[in-house]
Amino acid sequence: MKFVYDFTEGNKDLKDLLGGKGANLAEMTNLGLPVPPGFTITTEACKVYLDSGEEPAALRDEVSAHLEALEARMGKKLGQPDNPLLVSVRSGAKFSMPGMMDTVLNIGLSDKSVQGLAKQAGDDRFAWDSYRRLIQMFGKTVLGVDGELFEDALEAAKAAKKVTVDTELEAADLKKLVTKFKKIVKAEAGRDFPQDPREQMDLAIKAVFDSWNGDRAKLYRRQERIPHDLGTAVNVCSMVFGNLGPDSGTGVAFTRDPASGHQGVYGDYLQNAQGEDVVAGIRNTVPLAELEQIDKKSYDQLMQIMETLENHYKDLCDIEFTIERGVLWMLQTRVGKRTAGAAFRIATQLVDQGLIDEAEALTRVNGAQLAQLMFPRFDESAKVEQVGRGIAASPGAAVGKAVFDSYTAVKWSRSGEKVILIRRETNPDDLDGMIAAEGILTSRGGKTSHAAVVARGMGKTCVCGAEELEVDTKRRRMTVPGGHVVEEGDVVSIDGSTGKVYLGEVPVVPSPVVEYFEGRMHPGADDADELVEAVHRMMAFADRKRRLRVRANADNAEDALRARRFGAQGIGLCRTEHMFLGDRRELVERLILADTDAEREESLKQLLPLQKQDFVQLFESMDGLPVTIRLLDPPLHEFLPDITELSVRVALAESRQEPHENELRLLQAVHRLHEQNPMLGLRGVRLGLVIPGLFTMQVRAIAEAAAERKAAKGDPRAEIMIPLVGTVQELEIVREEADKVIAEVEEASGTQLKLSIGTMIELPRAALTAGQIAEAAQFFSFGTNDLTQTVWGFSRDDVEASFFTAYLEKGIFGVSPFETIDKDGVGSLVKLAAKAGRETRPDLKLGVCGEHGGDPESVHFFHEVGLDYVSCSPFRIPVARLEAGRAAV
Ligand code: PEP
Ligand code: MG
Repeated sequence: MKFVYDFTEGNKDLKDLLGGKGANLAEMTNLGLPVPPGFTITTEACKVYLDSGEEPAALRDEVSAHLEALEARMGKKLGQPDNPLLVSVRSGAKFSMPGMMDTVLNIGLSDKSVQGLAKQAGDDRFAWDSYRRLIQMFGKTVLGVDGELFEDALEAAKAAKKVTVDTELEAADLKKLVTKFKKIVKAEAGRDFPQDPREQMDLAIKAVFDSWNGDRAKLYRRQERIPHDLGTAVNVCSMVFGNLGPDSGTGVAFTRDPASGHQGVYGDYLQNAQGEDVVAGIRNTVPLAELEQIDKKSYDQLMQIMETLENHYKDLCDIEFTIERGVLWMLQTRVGKRTAGAAFRIATQLVDQGLIDEAEALTRVNGAQLAQLMFPRFDESAKVEQVGRGIAASPGAAVGKAVFDSYTAVKWSRSGEKVILIRRETNPDDLDGMIAAEGILTSRGGKTSHAAVVARGMGKTCVCGAEELEVDTKRRRMTVPGGHVVEEGDVVSIDGSTGKVYLGEVPVVPSPVVEYFEGRMHPGADDADELVEAVHRMMAFADRKRRLRVRANADNAEDALRARRFGAQGIGLCRTEHMFLGDRRELVERLILADTDAEREESLKQLLPLQKQDFVQLFESMDGLPVTIRLLDPPLHEFLPDITELSVRVALAESRQEPHENELRLLQAVHRLHEQNPMLGLRGVRLGLVIPGLFTMQVRAIAEAAAERKAAKGDPRAEIMIPLVGTVQELEIVREEADKVIAEVEEASGTQLKLSIGTMIELPRAALTAGQIAEAAQFFSFGTNDLTQTVWGFSRDDVEASFFTAYLEKGIFGVSPFETIDKDGVGSLVKLAAKAGRETRPDLKLGVCGEHGGDPESVHFFHEVGLDYVSCSPFRIPVARLEAGRAAV
């Protein structure tokens, strides 16, 4: 196996092997762009190292061969005292993990070669500054020395000299600092800073491998659902310097605005600085457009390269570049992260430019982004107290209590508080706090600062670089213009779409995207903004492409109508128990507890007209579309009085010697029906089988409602669904009774109702015997909530609060199986049941109505296994439509 690739050998499709950075450096090299020469050590080498604790045997020789070739090409040797070649050693995994892993710059500098570099560059100060940076970075990341020690020494040097910025330190000061830094290394790491350049390089490579399993990196991967076994590649790249004076500098840029998608010049530039300074958000940058005045030749070349990259990648790219004494070098490019709104806009813009087609456009957006666009926004017309404005780095409207450190953010959010994490700038150590916070506010750094990049990746609201806010993290407070002080715990609101910062809680209003789906805003109308237009077009692309139909879980006309507006093609689940809450609950309670036939029949008689009316309304609102009505499926305890409360009432009455016969009777009945595991108890079809007349009452209500709608020239399309079936016999009994009732109603009304009867598949036994069950069912709807509960043996009401956090932390699953379908377990049963069901009955209609029906990843799975539709809550319908379209690409 080959472990090392020269930049000229790779290409952008080799991300698995070369990591994102390595693959794209190779691509740029092959496009003829100015990339400093170098080579990439593969993720395979990293994996061998992580698995065995040792680098692969062949690696050392391969690195030597590539290093020699690099040296020959550059005409100098690594660390050569009079004319040193210096390299950077950078991590680069398949997926971008900004700032999560290690990088070491200026490898090759030593007590000797620092002199050579000074001569080479004609600049003593620069050489000593580079050396002190190497010892600092190497000490911290490779040798594990506490970075603060170096920072403190640097601050002390500045204080001694009475200067405030690093650049005011002169060569002699930096030379002293190098001595100090070396002492720190010796004391803390128990060894000297290595003077052998090859040793520096080898140790740095190993440190990058190790950083794959650093705490920050692991946390980030869990959050972003990046697999833990990919490993990172390592890029060894000849150094170019942005800190060689005012004709040098470094910057980051986007080929179009990552917030709006508009084409133009977007980026930040920092004169006389080295790469990491920009991303770290340490010094304030100037807008990229100003580079035109600073260095027109490099600026023009950069614009040209950006155009080449956009046309080549056919997408927004972000880039890092360095200018060394007027010569432009490309250090990195990748398809850039963007806000949800920009993703939609850019996808449609690229279609209009003829760069991509509709199908490709669908791959450029996703359901999670659409869901984000449906979040409410701040009410602009509300009375608000704006105290600052920063850069709109990641959209959303976030309200919460101000906290000034990650630890507090995590602690408070665990106890249920919503918090806004406020920092001067963030760094990778703040990741926990960023995850816990509703939003992130920083007073320094641009659109490409750590806070901005990471928040965008997480879909979290972020305002950065709000410079007029004075953040004092030590005293846990922030001073706003005018002198008002925001203390820890004070409520603030931040708007990641405008960059505005407010004191107190600002009310929120619906998003324009929701207004569009609701039909209150129309694309093409004056008030429709570009975003709505883009969403409208992308939804049309998805609808044209998708095979899966999308239905709604809705139990009342209001939800049904909204669902229709959102594009539902029917109701996939009407939970009739939701129709028995409120005033009607008592009727059901009486029905369940009835001692005599007469009592029971009386309750049923009262329930029938109420149910019928419910269905009439539902059929009317979904006229012409299928409506699946599930017969009653309550866990019994939800409809019975609370046993403790009732016991207290009885005991009180007894002690006061008051009459309490009724309560006592009720208590005895509740005791009789009490279950330890109501979810596994008397519910669903079981209830229908033990309470005579219950299901037939519901079937009659459905049939009569359908007949009434037909008489009114409507087009009701009812489907009757039997829940929690485990064996075909249960279904057969219910069907026999139902068929009788339907025939009676048809006879009485003189109409053919064409009602179909099917079942839910939500128990493992039902899935395993689906071939038999299909004999008695015209359709299956997978109840993946109960199916997940019963396949895993997880109580759906309890586990998320009890041990799921631990399971997620331990990586047993990356996401709750109640949220995203467990393909291997629950999914296998779905696949098996679908196949067996269709073998018995080729025209068997198949759908899913568990929560997974609206989950993006699960929708793709249901598409793949050939279901006919997914059903989800009304608000998730647009997401399901979009994902169904994406699944079909
Ligand atoms: C299911 O179990 O997936 C389902 C849709 O039914 P419920 O959530 O009502 O139990
Ligand atoms: Mg269920």
